[in-house]
Amino acid sequence: MAHEYVEIEGISVPTGHFIGGEHVSSVETFETRSPMQWDWKLADIARGTKETANQAVTAAVDAFPVWSRYTVQDRATCLQHLADLIDENKDDIATVECLDMAMLLESLKLRLIPRAALNFRNYANIIIDAEERAWSSKGTLNRIIRMPAGPAVIITPWNAPFMLSTWKVAPALASGNTVILKPAEWSPLSTAKLTEFINEAGFPSGAFNIVQGFGSDLGAALVSDPRVKRVSFTGSPETARKIGHAAAENIVPFTAELGGKGPLIVFEDCDLDAAAKKAAGQFDDSGQVCLAGTRLLVQTGVMGDFLKLFHAYTDQHVMGDSRDAATTMAALIHPLHIEKVAAFVERARANGDKIIRGGKVHKEGRLWYEPTLIQPKSNNSEIVQNEIFGPVLTIQDFETEEEAIALANSTKYGLSGIIYTSSAERAERVGRAVRSGIVWINCFLIRDLSAPFGGIGESGIGREGGDYALDFHADLKTLQIYEGSVT
Ligand code: ADP
Repeated sequence: MAHEYVEIEGISVPTGHFIGGEHVSSVETFETRSPMQWDWKLADIARGTKETANQAVTAAVDAFPVWSRYTVQDRATCLQHLADLIDENKDDIATVECLDMAMLLESLKLRLIPRAALNFRNYANIIIDAEERAWSSKGTLNRIIRMPAGPAVIITPWNAPFMLSTWKVAPALASGNTVILKPAEWSPLSTAKLTEFINEAGFPSGAFNIVQGFGSDLGAALVSDPRVKRVSFTGSPETARKIGHAAAENIVPFTAELGGKGPLIVFEDCDLDAAAKKAAGQFDDSGQVCLAGTRLLVQTGVMGDFLKLFHAYTDQHVMGDSRDAATTMAALIHPLHIEKVAAFVERARANGDKIIRGGKVHKEGRLWYEPTLIQPKSNNSEIVQNEIFGPVLTIQDFETEEEAIALANSTKYGLSGIIYTSSAERAERVGRAVRSGIVWINCFLIRDLSAPFGGIGESGIGREGGDYALDFHADLKTLQIYEGSVT
């Protein structure tokens, strides 16, 4: 079927899949709407089927012998070129994602889309600099070779869709694997924009495919195709279980970055103003951030002062149109999502947890939810134990460091943690004791792309970032070479 575009605010966005270097339509489509104004339909997007999955995997299988034999330098050149094209088109990509997901426009332009370009640029450098590990032992030379593994399926979530996709796609392509990316059905448009740049960046046909549609049919068909050699997923633990089963069925390595319920621990020796500001900052993006520190754990002696500062900073939040520079809290992505967030708070209320502030939809019929702080009746309350993914924080106090660590480690998640303290010794002790993939000390969201990234427990399995993602995407081989003279 013909290649189609939709025009959104003067920006053209492809509405089809991108398979084997070409845009491809589907008979069925699905709608995408703007969270800022739910009656604003943005586009009808191709809804892929099992057949689409089959076509995309076939394209990736066919392209693998070509792409995997590109020299590292040539692969890096394509990645660099794609990064340049993202940079050149950053404003359009940002606007489209802002309309589709309600992510703040300024933060997209300044932070997230440039970061997406950096993901490709960074992996161009990493793959060029990657060294084979080699050492001598027992009279032999051990050389560790990374072999490209084959087609990789990458399934991504609706939050920060462009940046999160590139974070996973860049190492896969750098490794010499071909890619089939399926973005989430609630925010497909910015990734659709990416399909415009792949050929121009110089990738051979089929090296990088993007398909649009739902997880239950298209996604499930992709991850269960036995020709797929890697599955990389970001999303919910429920979906991870299903995808993990499919990967296990085919005995294929699988990595999953899932939810979080990060502690933000405030010790009385810290810069309280900075801690309170950062705590109120957890409402940015309306809490639709898996790394957020959503459980505030505050040492008893400073609880009163902390709360005063926290309320003052929270009062400064502005709920509004994400295109306005003054807005700090975006609309939630979907009516079903705000319903889910509201239901969490209602259950907390019914459970006897204390709603300290917020606890309601900002304006009936719209998708903004007020910044909400809840003091749970007990640490077992659902509001403390389960990820909400909205602007809802809990607050609990603690007396001792041991208590803080016990509370921090008391959920099934382990993605991130934040600690505010002025003591280097305490930072070291507590930083080591908190069980999560990353712990920020006196800061938040700063991350070097070469560091490992991933979760513990229900926050995920496997690590990506830097060399860790190269190892995931490769079939590692040992070349064992006899160093003596062969007689
Ligand atoms: P979220 O809580 O972010 O909506 P999901 O896990 O439901 O998390 O979705 C994340 C991604 O997983 C989306 O792209 C979605 O389409 C996809 N997905 C959902 N179910 C499946 C499945 N059974 N197989 C493959 N992908 C799926």
